[in-house]
Amino acid sequence: MNNRVHQGYYARKRFGQNFLKDNNVIENIVTAIHAQCSEELVEIGPGLGALTEPISQYLDTLTVIELDRDLATRLQKHPFLSAKLTIYQQDAMTFDFSLLAQQKGQRLRVFGNLPYNIATPLMFHLFSYTSSVKDMHFMLQKEVANRLIAKPGSKAYGRLSVMAQYYCRVIPVLEVPSYAFTPPPKVESVVVRLVPFVELPYPVIDTYILSNITIEAFSKRRKTLRNSLGHLFSLDTLDVLGIDARLRAENVTVAQYCQLANWLKMHQNKYWE
Ligand code: SAM
Repeated sequence: MNNRVHQGYYARKRFGQNFLKDNNVIENIVTAIHAQCSEELVEIGPGLGALTEPISQYLDTLTVIELDRDLATRLQKHPFLSAKLTIYQQDAMTFDFSLLAQQKGQRLRVFGNLPYNIATPLMFHLFSYTSSVKDMHFMLQKEVANRLIAKPGSKAYGRLSVMAQYYCRVIPVLEVPSYAFTPPPKVESVVVRLVPFVELPYPVIDTYILSNITIEAFSKRRKTLRNSLGHLFSLDTLDVLGIDARLRAENVTVAQYCQLANWLKMHQNKYWE
């Protein structure tokens, strides 16, 4: 049997389609999300409805964003889902989550078994909407999940860790073996819960600057701060901020990146404009 075919549908690689088929895993994810009827849930990439169907039992309405036109059409004709669904046949990377939250009058609960080819940029897209999002549950490849939860000093700690942990509390929920999908991905997967902070622990004045500092620092991750960020911060400045110039990007905490971003905003406003 062709291992790319599921429920009569041929999984398309270009859309990152790995359909969930393991009922225990599906049930565990739905339980972890714990949807309530009064909430506004948004699924990214509903596909053939593996999560959409069971979660819809708890809801009167549900918004889904599906890029694949054939799958969106299939959902429109779904015997019991279609009446509950608002389907956006579009790229989730261009979706305006704050507009939807505004229309719904409440923060959104976003979830999905994400297409692994766009999971990281999609999360960066979502970080710009965290004030409109109550929480997120995503199936991700294990390596990306490890980066989300990584702490300073570990190999996985990078730009994604800093930005995710700036905006959200990140909690691993469930490990998922590759045989739970059709076709099975080449990597193991993990479901992660991200809960945006209502009050940020280390607020920065300008997240654009924070983002750019992490890009510069981690593009030279083996270098010390004195070398990687020396053009932005003098040794005296790092000293005043209490940050050791001999640290490497991977040893700098989220709080310290935020300190650096705020100092730069106050002292060199024009740097990235
Ligand atoms: N939720 C289904 C499941 O668990 O079986 C499908 C998950 S599959 C890994 C990813 C889904 O995201 C597919 O349905 C795919 O067509 C859809 N998709 C891919 N790229 C997308 C994008 N940029 N925006 C929205 N949906 C996308």
